[in-house]
Amino acid sequence: MTALLSIRGVEAAYGAIVALKGVDLEVNQGEIVTLIGSNGAGKSTLMMTIFGNPRARRGSIAFDGRDITALPTHEIARLRIAQSPEGRRIFPRMTVYENLQMGAELDGAAHFREDLERMLAIFPRLKERLHQRGGTMSGGEQQMLAIARALMARPRLLLLDEPSLGLAPLIAKQIFAVVADLNRREGMTVFLVEQNAYHALKLAHRGYVMVTGQITMSGTGAELLANPDVKAAYLEGG
Ligand code: ATP
Repeated sequence: MTALLSIRGVEAAYGAIVALKGVDLEVNQGEIVTLIGSNGAGKSTLMMTIFGNPRARRGSIAFDGRDITALPTHEIARLRIAQSPEGRRIFPRMTVYENLQMGAELDGAAHFREDLERMLAIFPRLKERLHQRGGTMSGGEQQMLAIARALMARPRLLLLDEPSLGLAPLIAKQIFAVVADLNRREGMTVFLVEQNAYHALKLAHRGYVMVTGQITMSGTGAELLANPDVKAAYLEGG
């Protein structure tokens, strides 16, 4: 099987701070893959490196068999890789509707109506708030909007950076359930970065553990959940 996303020996740095020290990771078509790790491990950096910001200074990143390591960010987005970044960066002054329009801009403008209806069916909350400004919604609603906006581009690969961050457990659970549903019903391929290791590993087919810029463990979600080292470092007391 060829991987949809293939990351090989990737290094990235912010000036003198080396954030990624040779990362290998794969996401296959139709999989949910999660990357877990503590604060500052380099998870967000890896996700941003896929978009070339920061650029991998060593190693390679391939999408659907094509080397994208040196491609400009806007061209990478055009390959239908969509991201819901950490901190759910929606446009706070724009309405829900306008935010979704922005998501469709790239590729989905032709089927905007159809995709809008689909998003409002997946996230009924957004339907009730279609003309409300994004910034006035709750954290969970903003997270739903950030994911819906990413989906408007009809991505082949959905990147989610800490979708549960700062959310009440029940709301986080709803978000994870939507991701599971998208994968099960539509075969959406998802790469999920999470600090909430328990939920992420329950949801994911496979997972990777990152410690200070390196992958230290990988396995199926179930394997990692049962692993004593994972339990001790990421699950107990969490
Ligand atoms: P968190 O869950 O806290 O976001 P993370 O695993 O996503 O953590 P990163 O945000 O990727 O970790 O950070 C990895 C390392 O790179 C950290 O040491 C961080 O301080 C550093 N770093 C991240 N962004 C920058 C930046 N813009 N400039 C300088 N250093 C940075």
